[in-house]
Amino acid sequence: MKVPILDLKPAYEELRAELDAAYHRVMESGWLLLGKELEQFETEYASSVRVKHCIGVANGLEAMQLVLMALGVGPGDEVIVPSHGYIATWLAVTHAGARPVPCESDPRTYNLDPNRVAEAVTARTKVILPIHLYGQTADMDGLNAIAKKRGIFLLEDAAQSHGATFRGRAAGGLGDAAGVSFYPSKNLGALADAGAVTTNDDKLADKLRHLRNYGSKVRYHNEYLGLNSRLSELQAAFLRAKLPHLPEWNSRRTRLAQQYMSRLQGVGDVTLPFVPEWAAPVWHLFVIRTAQRDALQAHLAAQGIGTQIHYPIPPHLSNAYRESGWKRGDFPLAEKYAGEVLSLPIGPHISSEQVDFVADQVAAFFGERAPATANSTLRSR
Ligand SMILES: *Cc1c(COP(=O)(O)O)cnc(C)c1O
Repeated sequence: MKVPILDLKPAYEELRAELDAAYHRVMESGWLLLGKELEQFETEYASSVRVKHCIGVANGLEAMQLVLMALGVGPGDEVIVPSHGYIATWLAVTHAGARPVPCESDPRTYNLDPNRVAEAVTARTKVILPIHLYGQTADMDGLNAIAKKRGIFLLEDAAQSHGATFRGRAAGGLGDAAGVSFYPSKNLGALADAGAVTTNDDKLADKLRHLRNYGSKVRYHNEYLGLNSRLSELQAAFLRAKLPHLPEWNSRRTRLAQQYMSRLQGVGDVTLPFVPEWAAPVWHLFVIRTAQRDALQAHLAAQGIGTQIHYPIPPHLSNAYRESGWKRGDFPLAEKYAGEVLSLPIGPHISSEQVDFVADQVAAFFGERAPATANSTLRSR
């Protein structure tokens, strides 16, 4: 049995009729940018998140960058970001001209820890930017309390959490605004790059509608120094075809996650995901942690099981940030997670038989590993 970490073809097979119809609708309209499909997708997505505004943009990174630009956050300003997460979140801050201030995450949830955030806030902190990592919301009550008290803007990175809820409220509507990505592998994925901002703030929404289009809403009347960051009609039409299936696809992921949870309980030194009572995650990724991560990954690969590491190099140690002066040891939790996390296959088109096979192989690895400490030849198999 082969278990790929990601295979997008079955998604097309399931939705072929809807996606093909979307393609033909746009091609026959002859209109490719800033048209009716985008407007309707924005309305439909905003209502799924239960916010007033959705502004489609080119990708998730620029969604967050545009919010920071709209707020006037730039040189001299600080934005608190998780030390453990994807580098795009940090890049949005850097490209806006501000400074990412990394903050260590909670070891159980891998999300920003409000206690540590409170300590990281300074007079220069303009924004707190939590990621709802792996599909589970951060502790938004704790973060909102700090943001309100200190007058700081709370921007969610909701790229991995389409449909996730915090105390019953949808990710993307839990702070002052959210950046979303519809990169093809996300829970709601377009067929190319795409993204959006969601917010209840009328003024911010209006400014973003300018900023995504050279700073203009009326052609050749440029009000701001904008970017070119638009979500195309084709991608909007594909997203409209997929959005109604998101709840069902998320519940398939949830069933598989529950199966992993029960099958992997107590296996080896595996740390399973932790779900606080207030969270309903959508399992963008199913991430376990083990000190024998690299050997486990090699064992699974040899059995035809694809896995990935999210993420192997913490942003502060990436070459891209070498000028910033961060070094090994600065964010020990992020560095530890980078060495131990492993994402197992999960998705709407993974079967429960495949999950059983993966779970059996994880258990087999640890079954064989126990004597292997005494007999190191097993290691190099
Ligand atoms: C995918 C992702 C992004 C970036 O989105 P793009 O659309 O690829 O620019 C940002 N943050 C997180 C947490 C992501 O997973």
